[in-house]
Amino acid sequence: MPTKKTDTSTEELKKKVLENEEKHEYQSSKFKKIEDQVTWALSRQATDDALRDVSIWALVVGSSDVHYECFETYVVVRFRIDGVLVDIFRLTHAQYKKIVERLKYAASLKLNISNIPQDGKYSLKIDETKKIDVRVSTLPIHYGENIVCRILDSAKAVIDFEDLGFFWTSKRMLERAISQKAGMILVTGPTGSGKTTTLYTILNKLNSREKKIITLEDPIEYELEWIVQSEIDDKNWVTFESGLKACLRQDPDIIMVWEIRDYNTLNTATSASLTWHLVLSTLHTKSAADTLDRIINMGLKPYILASALDTIIAQRLVRKICPDCKVEKEKSPQEISIIEAMMSEIWMKWLSSDNLKLYKWEWCSKCNHSGFKGRMWVYEIITLNENIKDLIRSWWSVEEVIAEARNWDLITMKEDGILKAIKWFTTIEEILRVI
Ligand SMILES: [Zn+2]
Repeated sequence: MPTKKTDTSTEELKKKVLENEEKHEYQSSKFKKIEDQVTWALSRQATDDALRDVSIWALVVGSSDVHYECFETYVVVRFRIDGVLVDIFRLTHAQYKKIVERLKYAASLKLNISNIPQDGKYSLKIDETKKIDVRVSTLPIHYGENIVCRILDSAKAVIDFEDLGFFWTSKRMLERAISQKAGMILVTGPTGSGKTTTLYTILNKLNSREKKIITLEDPIEYELEWIVQSEIDDKNWVTFESGLKACLRQDPDIIMVWEIRDYNTLNTATSASLTWHLVLSTLHTKSAADTLDRIINMGLKPYILASALDTIIAQRLVRKICPDCKVEKEKSPQEISIIEAMMSEIWMKWLSSDNLKLYKWEWCSKCNHSGFKGRMWVYEIITLNENIKDLIRSWWSVEEVIAEARNWDLITMKEDGILKAIKWFTTIEEILRVI
């Protein structure tokens, strides 16, 4: 049975990937340089410089978040690079105390409170033309206060539409979806799957002076020109539901509501879609199919869902193979089996896997000895065409919907990833690590 063979191959390879992942360590001479700069700045009481150095280095190595984690005798500074946490250096508790005080002051947090979580934001000027925002959140733990700083680099918030990584049928599906005047488009995936960038890039593509685009966010992460951005404010009763109703009274053409968390928001967003608005939003679900299940479980009637929802985009971020140290490699029997199973699922049996190349990496300094540099998205998209809508309106099961979507070019996230691996953007191991 071909399916059984693939399952075994996938399982075996995935196990190997996860084992190697634990053993592998990022290394870079840059990390020592960061440590030296920061500790030197702290030794001369230049805490501002120390924080600036950390943020600039985080930007240089392509990190989105800086984590400070307290242990009994030391504090570890870690960067999230291409989605993976990497230890950079250690601080003493005395050194860390200076950093905490300065961060709290900059982000307008209460300096004398260390036993409850706090969050705030500050701006950092990098040079004459570049400014970044840093979101700071604290969490009291047994050995002190852990801090995570999220670096909001607006240069990376909106990317070129083509760089989103929608290829093949998914590109056609997305272009059709966003060319519509009304309907709901849901982007789904866990935290850190790049939903913000996808939504902001779509909004940017739709942005024109003839249309009114309003967003409701939590909080506003990046400012977008010509788009009306609002944010929820629990203290003043601006929730996703009440905020969305207020946005609708502003005569919008397109609405982006950051997240659908409850039935009332879902219901208001659905009504907006049915009253001739294009509605974009996100849901925390694993796959496109899961999304349908979740919406029905939230209490929306299937016939309303079928009329209001147009497209579901499920996504994950995977690391791109480092272009500076990639080399061609022999395909393993498991990889051949995975590729062939994917091809038969998406009716590409005619293409022989013999001619396909795969790459592996040799470590180099450009990728901090990780083998990867930058990230890209993998997707699965379901377009709710009339056949699928009919299935949803009548009694349906997720399996039936998926089977029908297969007839209309559905490519699963894993298949999209494997296609991207055989196009040399990434590796099959990386796809199995993430999905
Ligand atoms: Zn490299």
